[in-house]
Amino acid sequence: MPAPKTVTIYCASASGFDARFAEAARALGAALAGRGVAIAYGGAHVGLMGMTADAAREAGGRVIGVIPERLVEREVAHENLTELVVVDTMHERKRQMADLGDAFVAMPGGLGTLDELFEIATWSQLGMHTKPIVLLNVAGYFDHLIAFLNHAEESGLLQARNRAIIQQVADVPALLSLLFG
Ligand code: AMP
Repeated sequence: MPAPKTVTIYCASASGFDARFAEAARALGAALAGRGVAIAYGGAHVGLMGMTADAAREAGGRVIGVIPERLVEREVAHENLTELVVVDTMHERKRQMADLGDAFVAMPGGLGTLDELFEIATWSQLGMHTKPIVLLNVAGYFDHLIAFLNHAEESGLLQARNRAIIQQVADVPALLSLLFG
């Protein structure tokens, strides 16, 4: 796999209770920017999304936000991005975030993050792309999800080769090694 030039990040519009989430968001944004890797994400200034984007911008990185018009109006759009792509629908947003990224990283998040993660993984399962998809399992946040995916495989409902689509790492240095060698 060639090293990704743009990484799409899925992450929470909230900050969460564990300070390690914010630390990892900032570390990820800064690390990608420091390597000259662009970030595509959901375009908001709130929560872990905003922290990732801020850290990347502070480190001189390129950050592209993709946000539906409705959320711009609700004033969650980040105003200090390299580019803000305003789209009509959530589906269009996911399509553009999928097209922009050479790799996909899910940080801790809620339903929106999980939706994005599972859609991009399903598109891989269907052969629509072969780009890496990685869970950044900060502070073990995704442990139960990982256990569930293993359960799905053990139950014969998720083929081993499809289970392998969703990779996992424990921290930002491990993510960088996985994506950039
Ligand atoms: P969640 O994990 O539920 O906080 O959702 C965050 C993910 O869904 C992000 O990766 C965004 O692309 C999208 N999203 C959901 N809610 C928002 C919001 N209020 N502002 C911006 N993006 C959001």
